[in-house]
Amino acid sequence: MSKQINVALIGNPNTGKTSVFNSLTGLNQKVGNYPGITVEKKEGICKLPRGVKAHIIDLPGTYSLNASSLDENVVIELLLNKNDKDFPDVAVVVSDVENLKRNLLLFTQIKDLEIPTILVINMSDRMKYKGISLDIPYLEEQLKTKIALVSTRKNQGIDNLKELIFNYKDLSTTPCLNASEIDKDYFDNLQKAFPNQLLYKLWLVITQDVNFGKTDRNEIDAVADFKTKTKADLKRLQQKETIKRYQFINNTLKKGQTIDLSTAKDLRIRLDRILTHKVWGYAIFLVILFTIFQAIYDWSAVPMDFIDSTFASLSEWTKDSLPAGTFTNLLSEGIIPGLGGIVIFIPQIAFLFLFISILEESGYMSRVVFLMDRGMRRFGLSGKSVVPLISGTACAIPAIMATRNIESWKERLITILVTPFTTCSARLPVYLIIISLVIPEGRFLGLGYQALTLMLLYLIGFGAALVSAMILNKILKIKSKSFFVVEMPNYKLPLMKNVALTVVEKTKSFVFGAGKIILAISIVLWFLASYGPGEQFNNAEEIVTEKFASQNLTQEELDNEIASQKLEYSFIGLTGRAIEPAIRPLGYDWKIGIAIVSSFAAREVFVGTLATIYSVGSDEEETIKNRMAGEVNPILGGPLFNFASGISLLLFYAFAMQCMSTLAIVKRETNSWKWPILQLVLMSGFAYVVALITYQILI
Ligand code: GDP
Ligand code: MG
Repeated sequence: MSKQINVALIGNPNTGKTSVFNSLTGLNQKVGNYPGITVEKKEGICKLPRGVKAHIIDLPGTYSLNASSLDENVVIELLLNKNDKDFPDVAVVVSDVENLKRNLLLFTQIKDLEIPTILVINMSDRMKYKGISLDIPYLEEQLKTKIALVSTRKNQGIDNLKELIFNYKDLSTTPCLNASEIDKDYFDNLQKAFPNQLLYKLWLVITQDVNFGKTDRNEIDAVADFKTKTKADLKRLQQKETIKRYQFINNTLKKGQTIDLSTAKDLRIRLDRILTHKVWGYAIFLVILFTIFQAIYDWSAVPMDFIDSTFASLSEWTKDSLPAGTFTNLLSEGIIPGLGGIVIFIPQIAFLFLFISILEESGYMSRVVFLMDRGMRRFGLSGKSVVPLISGTACAIPAIMATRNIESWKERLITILVTPFTTCSARLPVYLIIISLVIPEGRFLGLGYQALTLMLLYLIGFGAALVSAMILNKILKIKSKSFFVVEMPNYKLPLMKNVALTVVEKTKSFVFGAGKIILAISIVLWFLASYGPGEQFNNAEEIVTEKFASQNLTQEELDNEIASQKLEYSFIGLTGRAIEPAIRPLGYDWKIGIAIVSSFAAREVFVGTLATIYSVGSDEEETIKNRMAGEVNPILGGPLFNFASGISLLLFYAFAMQCMSTLAIVKRETNSWKWPILQLVLMSGFAYVVALITYQILI
């Protein structure tokens, strides 16, 4: 004679509970509803050796014992009510081998109710395909359970499962997690109040806002009074419980489960294996990056030229058709170029985000982040900082906007703060002209000195970003959780609608966010460059005309000389002269001073400003370069742009924070002036010191 063994099949949705149920019960099953509710109840009989029978019920899928739906309530009500006629003698938790980590959360909860529990790891047929192998004895020991590795599809492991059910009395009922680990005081008190009750069960009863029907009514009511904690506190403790459980599960799986991508056959896994490969992964990423940047440069060139010339002619048109006066000047020389200075960034921003969001949508970006995460973490950055740091070579503005998907605030802030060190395209014209002036043309190991210098400057930029990230990581006392990617999404074709939305949203947020500040500052700088106190500025025309009266200058040459005179005595010019004592130890004169000051609007104006000061009519590089080469150091004699001052200037531009648009975007993204001001002061101060030391050593 034999008693029936009550078996409950429990598990996350789609783990194969119903399939296991069908394998165990065959044709001996019936389907009904739970009393009072329309949740399906499947029951069946499984024949075990020696005439023993098991009564199996297939419970609705549930992710955890923290009920949130009617289906899940069914599971909890059954497990908490010992008097239910279906109360299981043994719980069979069905998990799927591909999602063990998530599945085990429920397992540990059920185990802690001290019900004899068997773990079914289903879909074992997928293991080879996915490169997964399991150390079953180790897992059994850690999880204090018996494991049946099953494939209902291949009909494997079912007999073993039946045998485990038959011998259910041998199962250990030791819990996985000691409930009082969650909050010792609270749980100790709870245990004192209800010495005869299982602690974890009490905890579940307290935290579940469900109707438990007839379940131990009196006890539950008594427990319900034992609410010394607020709802929010209880929620927090529940979260703590979940974290503790995942810690336990992670530790267990670290040794008990190996995923060897090299033996996997899955296409996704094979792709992952290449894309996250220690060598190929980086190589492929570099090629993709290179292609993207080339595309950004190539594709933006045309619209940028178009925007440039449109705003130039608009500005000219305003000047010609409006009555001459301050307002017209403000409009044509301040506001319109200022607006142009915002709009000109749109193509680069739009293209960069087009590519970024395609990479993200396709699932590739997660692989890059995974690949880079380890290395970047050493510097206090996240794998996700790679995108901003590299985008920074085009322009820091879209790069800083691209930090938004870094979850940890500290890592994001550090990324924002160090990104302006990467060599942006605005530094390029400055570098190019100075390098051509002070670096000889020879070659070293087939590499030109000039190209080598340029490459070094890029490396210095990245290096400065990484080192300062490391320092910031030590200094900044910000507590923020560092997340790591747990699951990688599947590869898929990007949804063009999502991509388009990202591009539009980012572009709009740049135009209306940073745009306002850029416009305001350009107007201020325009004012400073267009106005000046005193005779020399106000009577510039007469003074210059008189000065050059004896020489036969063309009207254009004369206009250039006037512009040069005006700039020299404008507020900016005076500032350039005023800071001369400070920059002379760096090897610069006041003309370079003016160029540096106006570079704080945007670095690329360096060359243009010098062209105006040297009153070079056309901005052909040859002409300005010749003028610069001919400049004489007023104190030491010899060329002003020599090796020492050239290198010092290069390094100054490499480190100084000279871009108001970037400052504006940093203010926007950090929602505070503190960080952009800190950047401005620290980076520029550092630049000054480095430039000073360099010049003094080299001279
Ligand atoms: P339930 O939601 O937990 O009841 O899961 P089901 O039994 O309905 O199964 C969910 C899905 O997993 C179905 O598509 C099954 O075909 C599939 N499945 C179940 N068992 C196995 C297995 O052993 N191997 C594989 N490859 N798939 C399985
Ligand atoms: Mg089912």
